[in-house]
Amino acid sequence: MTEHEWGYTCENGPATWTEKFPEARGARQSPVDIDTSRASSGGSAPPLLWRYSVNHTRSVVNPGYCWRVDENGYDSELRGGPLGSDVYKLQQWHCHWGAVNGEGSEHTVDGRSFSGELHLVHWNTTKYHSFTEAAGQPDGLAVLGVLLMVGRKHNELDKVIKLLPYIQHKGDKVTMADPLDPAKLLPHREAYWTYPGSLTTPPCTESVTWILFKDPVEVSAEQLSLMRKLRCGEASCGVEAMELLHNYRPTLPLGNRELRDYGGN
Ligand SMILES: [Zn+2]
Repeated sequence: MTEHEWGYTCENGPATWTEKFPEARGARQSPVDIDTSRASSGGSAPPLLWRYSVNHTRSVVNPGYCWRVDENGYDSELRGGPLGSDVYKLQQWHCHWGAVNGEGSEHTVDGRSFSGELHLVHWNTTKYHSFTEAAGQPDGLAVLGVLLMVGRKHNELDKVIKLLPYIQHKGDKVTMADPLDPAKLLPHREAYWTYPGSLTTPPCTESVTWILFKDPVEVSAEQLSLMRKLRCGEASCGVEAMELLHNYRPTLPLGNRELRDYGGN
């Protein structure tokens, strides 16, 4: 994929993705607005269960369109809830944000945007052999979405954010050996909406069971401003390596997909 094939500028932003990535035109696209009046109660689903590894080496990467933490996910798993008995492994997690506070989430709730959104991306190891294989299947991926709002500094997330100055440009990568618990990125209350959707970045493959937590978590304004200082170009671009001020895809129609609601109101 060439450097400017897709991104979030006027020239290569979400409105242009459908030209090069036909799947982005599909009927199962993400993100969506969560119209809470349309959500059907999921009843008494089995609980969502996650077990994440704390002590292993992770990489923090700037792929040019976000920051991303790559996991060696063989000792972490997610199952239960809408995923049934299939076991999904954590592959990577990353963040979306906006140019100003109050925008930046990909999903919106009754039309309201939040200041950012974390995505924890898992793949179905029960049915598939690799992340790549799973990413092309309707039940291949499960993404936990966590809405971010401006408030107190998030201490666990800060272990990543304090490394962002070292991955300013596209292609930069640092390793992180300090313990980090992905479970501490999730809200305390297990209440969420779920629907079938897609990756929100090209190729926008329709392979994701979305699980969006209802409760946002807080990050500080300073933490968000460090994210906006990341650049979408390589260091060789010099001043042309523009700041990644925003990296969220606008919502797309839910259509006739079922949106289910689990947990308290
Ligand atoms: Zn994402």
